[in-house]
Amino acid sequence: MKTRIFIAGHSGMVGSALVREALQLGTYEPVLATRRELDLTDLRAVLHFLEFQRPDCVIFAAAKVGGILSNSTFPADFLYENLTLATNIVRASFLVGIKRLLFLGSSCIYPKFAPQPIPESALLSGTLEETNEAYAIAKIAGLKLCAAYRKQHGVLFHSAMPTNLYGPGDNYHPDHSHVIPGLIHRFHSAKERGLKEVAIWGTGTPMREFLYVDDLASACFHLLTLDNPADWINVGFGSDVSIYDLSLAIAKAVGYSGQITLDSTKPDGTPRKLLDTSLLRSTGWQPQTPLEDGLKLAYADYQKALHSGRLRTI
Ligand code: GDP
Repeated sequence: MKTRIFIAGHSGMVGSALVREALQLGTYEPVLATRRELDLTDLRAVLHFLEFQRPDCVIFAAAKVGGILSNSTFPADFLYENLTLATNIVRASFLVGIKRLLFLGSSCIYPKFAPQPIPESALLSGTLEETNEAYAIAKIAGLKLCAAYRKQHGVLFHSAMPTNLYGPGDNYHPDHSHVIPGLIHRFHSAKERGLKEVAIWGTGTPMREFLYVDDLASACFHLLTLDNPADWINVGFGSDVSIYDLSLAIAKAVGYSGQITLDSTKPDGTPRKLLDTSLLRSTGWQPQTPLEDGLKLAYADYQKALHSGRLRTI
């Protein structure tokens, strides 16, 4: 019999990678609901849905996400929506008797000046990066809620903290997306219009780690096979790259050969964000997609979405 798994947020970049992986594994039956069918910010509706569907387990991939500018411009939306999603899905899962839930957070839960690479133990050891504090606080509350239900009620609610993700289905909004989709879009447009230069934000010196979203999906299903996973566990690629070097790699993947300049009016965000992934690796998992390959796949998906009018820009 297949394991019925509710993938909350299945239409997003992460959720759709989880559906792909579940189907490919063949041992799972995804339970899905569109935004129109189920409002995840409504606790009664979530309860009703889970009571009716009775999935065996839940992966929580629903989130209001955005890049550095979006997060710092709309902190109330990011905090309120993500907190509500976390409390509703965790509470409703518990109330209907679901025994296993995997909550997805983000590496921005760790303090701005955490030791690098960042171990799981760095949580709550310092001040957060203020450009994404609202999102981070909601995700910290979510992971602590899972740990609290596990401790108090013995349910296997645990969390995964992925590093910066990219891949098919990303959001390509010119201002409010993350750096990879933002730059894919900007370099592609510059190539099409024959522009001689493209500006990237900030100083180009911040270091970031990037994981192809299908690798995250494989890590999630791996975590669901562990009998006694840590309350939260980092999911990363294992090495990082400067934003400037990343921009060179994206320009190459896109085929843009103009100049790259720096827009210092835009924020850098946290100086470095590399996860310590030794805990996850010790359980027998590692990523499969090098950055260059992932960027080519992401650009191919961008072109496909652009030409079919399906490009997500929010
Ligand atoms: P962060 O990891 O939370 O800071 O999120 P982002 O992916 O939005 O930004 C990562 C880094 O890339 C930051 O240092 C940005 O300043 C830099 N960056 C350079 N160009 C861009 C761009 O076009 N869009 C975004 N979002 N970030 C950019």
